[in-house]
Amino acid sequence: MKLAWQCVELEALDSLRALIRLDTSNPPGNERFATDYISAVLARCQVEAVVVESAPNRANLVARLRGRDGALKPLMLSAHTDVVPVERDRWSLPPFSAEIAEGCVWGRGALDMKAKGAMDLAILGALGRTGSMPERDLILAAVADEEAGSELGAKFMVERHPDLVRAGYVLNEVGGFTMFFGDRRFYPIQVAEKGFVTVRMTTRGQPGHSSVPRADSAIAQMAELISKLTHAPMRRRMTPLMRQMFDRLGLSLDAEIPLFRAMLSNTVVPTILQAGYKDNVMPGEASVVLDGRTLPGEDVESFMAELRSIVGPKPELEVLRSGPPVEASTRTPLFELIAERTEAADPGAEIVSWMIPGATDSKFYAQLGAACYGFAPVKLERDTMFGSLYHGNDERLPVDGFFWGLRLYADVVLRFLGLRFEDVFE
Ligand SMILES: [Zn+2]
Repeated sequence: MKLAWQCVELEALDSLRALIRLDTSNPPGNERFATDYISAVLARCQVEAVVVESAPNRANLVARLRGRDGALKPLMLSAHTDVVPVERDRWSLPPFSAEIAEGCVWGRGALDMKAKGAMDLAILGALGRTGSMPERDLILAAVADEEAGSELGAKFMVERHPDLVRAGYVLNEVGGFTMFFGDRRFYPIQVAEKGFVTVRMTTRGQPGHSSVPRADSAIAQMAELISKLTHAPMRRRMTPLMRQMFDRLGLSLDAEIPLFRAMLSNTVVPTILQAGYKDNVMPGEASVVLDGRTLPGEDVESFMAELRSIVGPKPELEVLRSGPPVEASTRTPLFELIAERTEAADPGAEIVSWMIPGATDSKFYAQLGAACYGFAPVKLERDTMFGSLYHGNDERLPVDGFFWGLRLYADVVLRFLGLRFEDVFE
């Protein structure tokens, strides 16, 4: 039995709209809404899902289709089901209505990343309904809490249920969207992401009455250190991946675009500053949370040594949290397939392997040995640029671009599973 591709497209669009209407703003998350929906759709396709709660209503779903050859490493399609909160009055259309207007589906999560969640569901569902047997295991993961650090989502699954999510390859966010650069068109494919080291830095000074100024107060020391961190950026280092990316985009090394600058060094940004409790008391202590981000090849020790060299020996530094950087090879059959099929799907466009300065769930899946790629294909126009809509107001996705992406995604996934598009769809 084959499925009519046009029906699959419309069902995927329905799923996307249904998922947007389920408000999974994190906090509080409530991803159970999304996993209930996904399990019900999968059940209609004869695919059984396992749902694991990491906290009340914080649900993670995994479904698996067994492959013919148990020796081949599984492919996992992963999406997070939570979204970032909205500022409702800044939206042109209600953010959880999933209305279609001006050729786009509007709503929080349209891009990040309920569209890919709907694509994953459409593909696994189609294989279930047609009784297709892939060459290797295909896993679908729909996880919670990515927007708050993955503690109750991918990280929880990797630490507590590794057998459910261990894969050789993972397709996740961020990549596969059209990026306009001058008069050229690119599709970035994420192969790397920075690590993070969150640090509390504390200064201490003599507390006292603030009618008598002191240059060495805790706050004065802190102000100087923050100023140093802002004006003495961390050491620049060009990784081979970044060299390839800058070459491909024709970017010069001193490009002043903040996004690209952040890809050439570790970075550190003060985010939470605390000191004082009364307006006429000089506090004895000041502290700041520093959001540090590390390049592939760095670890907590090398980052802390660099931080120490900037701030000097005096302040106390305490590591609060950390996650390693990751980088997958571009010389795998899956990456080559993504590159070839993407360029074929939009003639004239080029793929570029890409590192994001932020973090995704790939960081955790990679710890189980997976090569993780950000590939959630969608065709965008110049006026719906990914960067401006990601976590932004009026997040929306062109319906045609979604169908284009679904076709490309199905093509890549099916080929990698040893199946042909024509065997499953008509
Ligand atoms: Zn995301």
